[in-house]
Amino acid sequence: MKKTKLTTKILIALILGIIVGFMLDGHPNIATTFIRPFGTLFLNLIKMIIVPLVFSSLIVGTSSVGDVKSLGRIGGKTIAYYLFTTAFAVTIGLILGALIVPGAGLDIPVNVDQAVQESPTLIETLLDIVPSNPLKGLVDGNMLQIIVFAIFLGIGATSIPENLGKPFINFFNSLAEVMYKVTAFVMKFAPIGVFGLIAPVVAENGPSVLLPLIKVIIAVYLGCILHAILVYSSLLKVLANFSPLKFFKGVASPAVTAFSTSSSSGTLPVTMKTAKENLGVSDKIASFVLPLGATINMDGTALYQGVCALFIAQVYGIELTLAQMATIILTATLGSIGTAGVPGAGMIMLTIVLQSVGLPLDGIALIAGIDRILDMMRTSINVVGDLSAAVVVAKTENELVEVSEKTSA
Ligand code: ASP
Repeated sequence: MKKTKLTTKILIALILGIIVGFMLDGHPNIATTFIRPFGTLFLNLIKMIIVPLVFSSLIVGTSSVGDVKSLGRIGGKTIAYYLFTTAFAVTIGLILGALIVPGAGLDIPVNVDQAVQESPTLIETLLDIVPSNPLKGLVDGNMLQIIVFAIFLGIGATSIPENLGKPFINFFNSLAEVMYKVTAFVMKFAPIGVFGLIAPVVAENGPSVLLPLIKVIIAVYLGCILHAILVYSSLLKVLANFSPLKFFKGVASPAVTAFSTSSSSGTLPVTMKTAKENLGVSDKIASFVLPLGATINMDGTALYQGVCALFIAQVYGIELTLAQMATIILTATLGSIGTAGVPGAGMIMLTIVLQSVGLPLDGIALIAGIDRILDMMRTSINVVGDLSAAVVVAKTENELVEVSEKTSA
């Protein structure tokens, strides 16, 4: 009998989780007590991999790029791609927010207690990227700090005589390989994990929570799908001559893992495995572009912030000017750099976007109830966006190999 592909199993688990979640609507305790532990176990397993994987693969990725000049070129392309697609995503969010008008006729009492705490300022966030104590950054799992430190180490290791730099790089190379192998073991558990994560979310957020804000959900989901179809497909086709169909088929596993975990950092091991095995991205590019993307590239989050800003303006009857919309695009794009790839981070950063144009922060309380549902979709797009960048950058660097669909995982 033909062995069912892991991706198919994960997709089936997702659908079953949604069905069981709806069946348990009104009894969220059953889902939380008996089903969620499997999800939490899966989440812990992949979280266990992240810090050593990001640290080691970025050191190897940076050092294999070789000279600082090529590193600057690849880094420049990657960051330009990330910023461009993110700015596009916020714009789509704003347009859909204006067309769907999710805030029209809404009269939901605002519970200020539910509003999230204020986030650090943009400057604070950007300055914090350089760790004053890198070991603390590693222990805390602060991804941006880990990235900066690893890039410095990678550059350092290639700038000293080879007999000294090589053993250092070899050690991290073998650590990275071990972490990929561990990822493959952990992914065998993914179908059960995905089921365990999704069923309780659906059981807790049944129709009663979703219906009043259904237009916000539709705007975010539709926006994300449009962004993927319009922006990624065209960039893949034009810049990398890569079939969008092949791409979307190839990225199903990380997309579903991101959907169920709501964490792009948590999905990173799966994202890296997919880029190499299904899309043919070289080790060198995957190790550099993807950890960076999981941390700084958040198209889905930015799109969501565009929709939410407009939604909150509509609820409070505030008319936004074009200049304010431009400010939202700029703030959401730059803010995405400082948004951690963990559940709920985008909602905290939404405060920065709202503040930048003087919208009431209390409005976040309206979103809080459905944020998890929005988080699932935006995280999925965050991760798919990273993968599209990996393909495009790899292609332009001659680092993309043809993968036959039969061999892909
Ligand atoms: N959960 C998202 C991510 O990990 C970030 C967010 O909350 O928007 O990519």
